[in-house]
Amino acid sequence: MTVYLVGAGPGDPDLLTLRAHRLLGTADVVVHDRLVDPRIMDLVAPWAERIDVGKRPGGPPNAQMDIHCVLTDASARADTVVRLKGGDPFVFGRGGEEAEALRAAGIDVESVPGITSAIAGPAAAGIPVTMRGHASGFTVVTGHEDPNADRHLDWNALARLGTTLVVLMGASRAAAIAERLLDAGMDPVTPVAAIQSATTVAQRTLRTCLADLADPDLDLSVAAPAVLVIGTVAGLDLTRNTADDSTGTEISVGSQLRYLVDDLTR
Ligand code: SAH
Repeated sequence: MTVYLVGAGPGDPDLLTLRAHRLLGTADVVVHDRLVDPRIMDLVAPWAERIDVGKRPGGPPNAQMDIHCVLTDASARADTVVRLKGGDPFVFGRGGEEAEALRAAGIDVESVPGITSAIAGPAAAGIPVTMRGHASGFTVVTGHEDPNADRHLDWNALARLGTTLVVLMGASRAAAIAERLLDAGMDPVTPVAAIQSATTVAQRTLRTCLADLADPDLDLSVAAPAVLVIGTVAGLDLTRNTADDSTGTEISVGSQLRYLVDDLTR
């Protein structure tokens, strides 16, 4: 009667931990999110019960409570329950809340860290989140909050930090986020990369700069799930065998020199 909170990594099954792989093959019940890659679900034992608790936009507001109930019920009838979450379970996955709810119900919980999309997403596009001469740190935030509401995140402070800014859940608000950072004084030519469906068969990278992303005329749309990387490292592509990075030449304000790279057709 243990619920394992397991990180599934960003998508590619090769990026699972060995422990996650082993648990997927032995679990009696796997409770998973919508974003978990089907190739990872293929690793679940054929006899195991699979429960999709993926929340959909506009879904019922009590969905998180329902998930807690599903997990509690499953743990009452199965020895090994895997709660499978994209990336790392404790990075915006509400894993903390689930662990707390299970513990409150007297259920044993063990967490199995996963590779977060906050690092693996940029890496899949050849972007290191830190790099000497570029950024001596990185900050991971949610883009789900209204950047103009200023309730929780201090976007003025984020713009001043000088670290790489990594935004998860920011696809639909990408333009508003760019506008907010520009208002806070961030350099308009700051490179931006949006890595969509990183490490899956649908991976695409949009590279642009802050000013172009904020420009309503350009209407650059970012498809979810995507990781936004903002900072000079976003101008790098270390998957290419070339010494030069794209800052300065390929990216400039108003030039509309944005480009879509389909990583799989290179
Ligand atoms: N726990 C997860 C994050 C959950 S929040 C982790 O550590 O990665 C969900 C957000 O994660 C998405 O909106 C998106 O911003 C990001 N994300 C997860 N998987 C992704 C992927 N394969 N490619 C791009 N972004 C991804």
